[in-house]
Amino acid sequence: MITAIYPGSFDPVTNGHLDVVGRALKLFDRLIIAVAHNSEKQGLFAPQERVELIRRSIEDSSKIEVVAFDGLLVDFAANCGAVAIVRGLRAVTDFEYEFQMALMNKTLSPGLETVFLASREAYTYLSSRVIKEVARLGGDVSKMIPPAVVQALREKLGG
Ligand code: ADP
Repeated sequence: MITAIYPGSFDPVTNGHLDVVGRALKLFDRLIIAVAHNSEKQGLFAPQERVELIRRSIEDSSKIEVVAFDGLLVDFAANCGAVAIVRGLRAVTDFEYEFQMALMNKTLSPGLETVFLASREAYTYLSSRVIKEVARLGGDVSKMIPPAVVQALREKLGG
């Protein structure tokens, strides 16, 4: 049973994230989607709301667990029995930060690998931040996020 962990803010989950999830499931037996609490970064959705939105957006959940976590990712990954961290790479702009984190995590936990999945072309420009910006301004983002998130954004932002 090979377990991987897919950490992120997921504030909120987008079709880009779900695409990474679907592809990671082809590589691993079990995937833990780990929603990071970040006390410095107040999200639009509370961590537990983000967890719920992911749970409602995944179709076959038999190989997936969705949890919120805080603290050091490598410790959390070890507690879950994960052998790999999955991250998505959209563009060169993601690369520097992701590379830095991967090297840091490798230093902290040499047995844990980071696996990067290149974004599907259609999702290259898709991020939670852009979704929130456009939704706030009343733009239609329904093709880029799961239905549960469309509804939740409407409730959160009004309109
Ligand atoms: P973080 O704040 O940790 O970057 P995000 O929720 O923004 O968390 O993203 C989590 C992971 O998913 C990151 O590795 C990010 O690069 C990846 N990701 C986000 N959006 C996409 C997308 N559209 N296509 C592929 N990967 C993505």
